[in-house]
Amino acid sequence: MPPWDFRILLPENQIPTIPVRIPPQTSQGLIMGFFQNIATGLELIAFPNVCVSCGRVMNDRDRMLCGSCTNSKFEDPNPSNKTCCGNWILPEGFLFQDALWRYDKEGIIQEMVRMLKYQGVAKLGRELGQAAGLKLIERHIGNRLPENKGEIILLPVPLHKARQKKRGYNQARLIAEGISEISGIAVADEHVMQRVRNTISQTRFSFSKRMDNLKDAFRLTQPETLSGKFVIIVDDVYTTGSTCFSLGGEIRKAGVKGIGVMTIGIA
Ligand SMILES: [Zn+2]
Repeated sequence: MPPWDFRILLPENQIPTIPVRIPPQTSQGLIMGFFQNIATGLELIAFPNVCVSCGRVMNDRDRMLCGSCTNSKFEDPNPSNKTCCGNWILPEGFLFQDALWRYDKEGIIQEMVRMLKYQGVAKLGRELGQAAGLKLIERHIGNRLPENKGEIILLPVPLHKARQKKRGYNQARLIAEGISEISGIAVADEHVMQRVRNTISQTRFSFSKRMDNLKDAFRLTQPETLSGKFVIIVDDVYTTGSTCFSLGGEIRKAGVKGIGVMTIGIA
């Protein structure tokens, strides 16, 4: 089964073909298949896969959030589809800043981001990315972004090599891969933009202190990949925008058509 039940979220004409498992043909194969099915059934009873948000049992063991929670449990930070989720003015070159959900401090979204970043629950990144991908299509494709997906590229906020090695993955890249699966927009290779300074944690910093902390943190190494395109910066949570705006300064050097920001949460 794919990691996501697309039928819940996609219109009927966009439902991808789900691969069908061919049953074993020999009598030995049939018996083996029978016992395997019983084993799978028993496993589901003994260790049910439950939604991390509401606790509902789900048949798809690859998913962590049920369709109902994904679609309607959390607050949409931008229901009227403005260029950004607040009343601020975006810097030059930025076309939009959007997020899947309003961040809930001490709530379930914060817990999911924590699981994704610090508990090694990497598959959650793709799952949340797929939900964000639907929102990106609904609100921005054919509006602030062109219909031609070849003109757009997803750029995950890079992690410093040392931090990525410790974590084993970049959570922003997993989210971008989820967006890509749903939208068909390509994800930029990790060599395109690098984080060359391992900045210290910014959680307690003001906006200006964050910008200082991020000075020269990113380096554009393959401008030709971004040149002439619409670049969507992808990250887990948008707080003050300092990371995106600092990264945007480097992206602009490539001569891009516009920059967008898509995150899972907005604080
Ligand atoms: Zn749920």
